[in-house]
Amino acid sequence: MTGKTCPRDKHKLDDGDFHSVSAMHCPECDGVLIKQMSLMKLLTEMSKELFQDISFESDIDPIEDKGANVNCPGCYSIMDNYGYMGSNDVMIDCCGSCAVLWIDANELATMCFMNERANKRMKHQQESAKEQSKRLDKFVLQEALHGAYMRGFRMGYGVGFIF
Ligand SMILES: [Zn+2]
Ligand SMILES: [Zn+2]
Repeated sequence: MTGKTCPRDKHKLDDGDFHSVSAMHCPECDGVLIKQMSLMKLLTEMSKELFQDISFESDIDPIEDKGANVNCPGCYSIMDNYGYMGSNDVMIDCCGSCAVLWIDANELATMCFMNERANKRMKHQQESAKEQSKRLDKFVLQEALHGAYMRGFRMGYGVGFIF
C-alpha cells in the first residue's frame, strides 16, 4: 500500500507500523487505513496499553461519525459504512474489494474500548457461570445429605418399629 491519500483531507498517507500492525496513517487527521484482517490484532495490541482498567460495566458516548461516502484510498469506490460490533456507537468504513478499513482517529480508541469491554463482559459471564455451578454443587450436596438423612431416619424408624 503506497502512494495513497487520506479520504478525508487528501493528505498523503504515511506507510508504516501502528502498534505492530502494518497500516497507513494520515499525519493530518490521524486516521488510519488497515487491512480488514489486521483489525483484531490492532485492537488487541492497543487494548494492552490503553484499557486495562475498564470495567465490563463501563459505558461510552457514541462517536460522532465524520460521515459516510468515504472513497477507498485504494480503488476510489465508495466504502461501506457500518457500525462496529453491530452498534451505532462507532461507524467505520470498509472496502470489501480491497479488504481494507478506514478508521478515523477517535473511532479507533473507542473500538478498542468496546473490544476490551466485550472481553471483560465475556470473562465476567464465564466467572459468574462458574460461580453458579459452584452454588449448584453445594445445593446438590445438600440435597444428597438431606436424602441420606431422611433415608437413615426411615431406616431407624423401621428398625425401632420392628423391636
Ligand atoms: Zn487525513
Ligand atoms: Zn477499495
